[in-house]
Amino acid sequence: MKLLEERIRQDGVVIGDDILKVDRFLNHQMDPMLFKAMAEEWKRLFAKDNVNKILTIEASGIGIACIVGLVFGCPVVFAKKSKTRNTPEDCYMATVRSFTRGIISDVTVSKNYLGPSDRVLIIDDFLATGEAAEGLMNLVNQAGAHLCGIGIAIEKAFQPGGKKLRAAGVKVESLARVGTMSEHEGISFID
Ligand code: 5GP
Repeated sequence: MKLLEERIRQDGVVIGDDILKVDRFLNHQMDPMLFKAMAEEWKRLFAKDNVNKILTIEASGIGIACIVGLVFGCPVVFAKKSKTRNTPEDCYMATVRSFTRGIISDVTVSKNYLGPSDRVLIIDDFLATGEAAEGLMNLVNQAGAHLCGIGIAIEKAFQPGGKKLRAAGVKVESLARVGTMSEHEGISFID
């Protein structure tokens, strides 16, 4: 998606070999007009999938997912990283290793908000190793829900997540795919 690629080129900051900071428009300050254009693109890409629920993970996926829910006209659920008072009987739980922080956390979704009648589109800001996406897919499986696919804002295609998920037969639609990036030479995109 050209609009997102241009914005990443303009406002993205590469840190080291593998971290892209997009705090100016996505992860800290957020640009809802851009999010709306992204959501409309996913709506086009998943037009035939009868999506009736959006699932994301705390925290940075929530802003994007909320606009996606608005455009799809369906509820948005986020998997919680913080400990809740819910007992294991009340919620689905999966373990996710955070790419940026390196810590492992349990993420949970209440059984009230995900179930067999749901046709789920997973939305997240980044795809790197695929751990977050796999954790969310695990929750969808536990709920007996149908996974329509995964919408990612920025896929770092030089990392293994996208390849792994597509090889498993999952429909992954990334709006910007970074082929290479470095602090000195900038960012290149691939289709
Ligand atoms: P994965 O689980 O695919 O390894 O990483 C995806 C998660 O890690 C996303 O939810 C995102 O929050 C975070 N993440 C991965 N790579 C980056 C990055 O380059 N920049 C930022 N800001 N977050 C990232």
